[in-house]
This record gives sequence, C-alpha cells and structure tokens, in this order.
Amino acid sequence: MASKMSGGVSVTEIDELMISVAGIRGVVGLALTPETTLRFARAYGTFCRKGRESPRDRPKVLVARDTRPSGEMLHHSVLAGLLDTCCEVIDLGIAATPTLQLAIFHHEADGAVAITASHNPQEWNALKFFQPNGMYLNKVKGKQFLDLTEAGEFTRCRWDTLGTWTEDTEATRRHLDRIETLVDVTAIRRRKLKVVLDCCNGAAGVISPLLLRELGCERVLINCDLTGHFPHSPEPVKENLAQLCQAVRESGADVGFAHDPDVDRIAVVTEKGEAVGEEYSLVLSTAYVLSKVQGPVVTNLSTTQTMRDLAVQHGCEMHWTPIGDVNVSEKMKEVGAVIGGEGNGGVILPEIQYARDGVGALALLLEYLATSGKSMSALIDELPRYAIVKRTVQFPRDRIHQAWDELQQTISADEVDDRDGLKFVWETRWVHVRPSGTEPIVRVIAEAAKEAEANRLCDAVEERLRLVAAA
Ligand code: MG
Repeated sequence: MASKMSGGVSVTEIDELMISVAGIRGVVGLALTPETTLRFARAYGTFCRKGRESPRDRPKVLVARDTRPSGEMLHHSVLAGLLDTCCEVIDLGIAATPTLQLAIFHHEADGAVAITASHNPQEWNALKFFQPNGMYLNKVKGKQFLDLTEAGEFTRCRWDTLGTWTEDTEATRRHLDRIETLVDVTAIRRRKLKVVLDCCNGAAGVISPLLLRELGCERVLINCDLTGHFPHSPEPVKENLAQLCQAVRESGADVGFAHDPDVDRIAVVTEKGEAVGEEYSLVLSTAYVLSKVQGPVVTNLSTTQTMRDLAVQHGCEMHWTPIGDVNVSEKMKEVGAVIGGEGNGGVILPEIQYARDGVGALALLLEYLATSGKSMSALIDELPRYAIVKRTVQFPRDRIHQAWDELQQTISADEVDDRDGLKFVWETRWVHVRPSGTEPIVRVIAEAAKEAEANRLCDAVEERLRLVAAA
C-alpha cells in the first residue's frame, strides 16, 4: 500500500479490490471502477433472482449510498446492474445504512445494496450486500454469492423485461418514527439538552440533525452538510474528535456525538469536552438498557469486559461472538438479547432492528441523560473502568498456523477461545490476537485494570509473533 499527500490529505494508492462475504471495497478509480461495480451488481441481482423463472417475476432490491463524491457514479453503475438483471429497484438515494436495513422490512425486499466505505478515508468506497432479514450476508450466503460472481453467469434481460426503478423518499422519516415510538420523547424534550453533533459530512446529515430537533434539543451542528468531503479522518475514534471536543467546550453543551459516514457507529464526548472512546457507546447503552429490562447481552470477542461486568451485575447472560456485525446480530436473535453490539461504537437495539444503528443509539443515550438527570461524565464515572490497548503487527499470512501453535503452547490462561483468532482470558484481563482477512497483519487487543498491564499482554504476544516470523 502506498500513500501520497494531496492537498494536505494522505491518499491511499492501493489497487487491489478487497473482497469479503459482506461485500467489496476499494480505492475509487484504481480497484473500484464502474465496471467492477456493474459486475458485482449484476451478480447480486442474479443472486436475488434465485428460484424465479419468469423475468417479469422481479426481486425487490433496495439501494442507498452515503455522501462520498464517488457515490453518484457507483450508484448509477449499481442501478444499471440491477435493472439489467430484471430487478425491481427501490432507490433511497443518500441514506444511513441502518435506514436502508430497516426499509428492507417495510418493502419486504429480497435484498439491498449499500454504497459506502463506512469509516474508510474518502478515496475508498464499497458495496455491502444484505439479506432479506436486514442483516449483512453471512458466511454461508456470502460464499454462495461470491461463487456465483466468480462463475460469471448472470441473468440478462431483454429490452422488454428490464427491471423497474422507483424512489423511496420516506425511508428516513419511517426510521425516525420508529425510533421516536421507542424512546421517552417527553422526558428528553423536558431536559432541553444542548447537543453538539459531528456528522463528518456523511449520511448522518440527513437524519440525526432532524432527530435532535424533534427531541427538543438545542443543536450545535458541525460537519452536517452532504458534500461528502470529510473534514477529518472519518472513523469516530478519540484522535479524530478534536473539533467536536472543542465545540462542546466552547458552546457549554451537555454532550457531543459523532457518527461515521454510514451512521452505524456513534462516539460520545462528555460535557467537559472529553472524548471517552468508542467502547463507551455500547457500554453506556448497555448499562441503561439493563437497568430497565434484564435479558441476554451479546458482543464480539474484542469488546471490553465491562460488558460482562454489567451483565453479571444485573444477573444477565453474556454471549461473545466472532467479529462482524452479522455474527452479533444472528446471536442476538437466537438468544433473544435485549442489547448487543460492538466495541467500535456499533450499538444494536433489537426493538428497532438487528443492525448497528447510530441514530437509535443517539436517541437512547439522550434518553439516558434525560431520565437519569445526571451529566455524561457522571454516568461514565459509574462504570467499571479498564484500559484497552489495540495494536497492529506486520505478520506473514502463511505463518499464521505456526504462530497459533506457539501462542497456545506458551501462554497459559483461564480460558482460551479459538472461534476467531485466539483469545486468552483471565479473571480481569484478556488478550485477543486475530489475523486480518485482507492484509498481512495481525491485530492484538488487550484489556486490563491498568494500561501498563494491557501493554505487557500485547508485548508478550508481539514477542512470540516476532520469534515465529524470524524462525
Ligand atoms: Mg460504519
């Protein structure tokens, strides 16, 4: 991967298309072109047609995009591919990904395509494919789809059986309505919260400012236009929220929130202007939900053990899953979870849908503030606190098996989970080691009471990885 500076912004020049079961991702103009997009859209249209004989028996497929400037071009390419494979296309235009997922149910659609590279830099874009149940393609469905794409035998319509296209301009409204029936709107309005919102000029601009207004908040909106020109790195992690923190301090707001460009994630800034880290979005949501209703909790293996502490505190079951939105969603549905999500700021509220929903989380956290009568920093202080350290280590992909053997032989833990990489767990600390699916790197995440201890866990793993790489 090479980088160059353009107008002060670092631009990636990677020319390989990243393909996974959930979709494709690439740098626009290098790996991701209208031709590539067309091919995958035709493949997906054919995939959604499964079992339909007549070209006039059209599967219903929804399409939405975030605000990235390349979205317009890719959007047209996706439409062409779906129309050519005799689909009934319903076009949401610019919309949050959770809005699209919710619309799948409204339309009883056979599938949906989101054109968004989520938190990746601006030069990236991606196609993400969904199932009729609103979730991303899982391992099984994703493999079927990729096999079909590889085979290249796609449906082709004649001029008189082409697909159809209509717009859905009400999807955002329906999403807001759904959220507003589930939170205590009266309580939130009564508290008259002053809220700073940073949408990073992403798709959140079409929905979250409206939600704040309807919940009676005094709004300070930054980066909420729809230009798709990201004013800062779009991942809603601490180091990218300086502007938001400053705006909270200067405006004397009660709280600040940031979304990523496809709005499935949210990050919180306290009234003191402190970014608390993306882990806290799920932790705060869980603390609040479990205080009202008790039931199973689901999160992925790389998420903070505070989740387990909260589950224990409320006498609830805790379930850990491999990384990936669909793994968490499927487990939540299976066990009837009351809340779940991921430590990256993705909160899943099953009353809305089994999908990470940054807008739903925004409303829930406002309700927590309003009904508790406390400040955001006071709510955070009530939570168990650990230090989490995340590292990326260069490691050759063909040596992963040796690395796993070495780690299992030399690290002794109370519990070892090998469902997604290797996770070593002790009573109050853990370290999770997992290879990237697309790059020659290994991610090492550790959590302990103190940062030094978490760093020691990462050091121990890194040292063993180095030994294996050098052997
Ligand atoms: Mg996202």
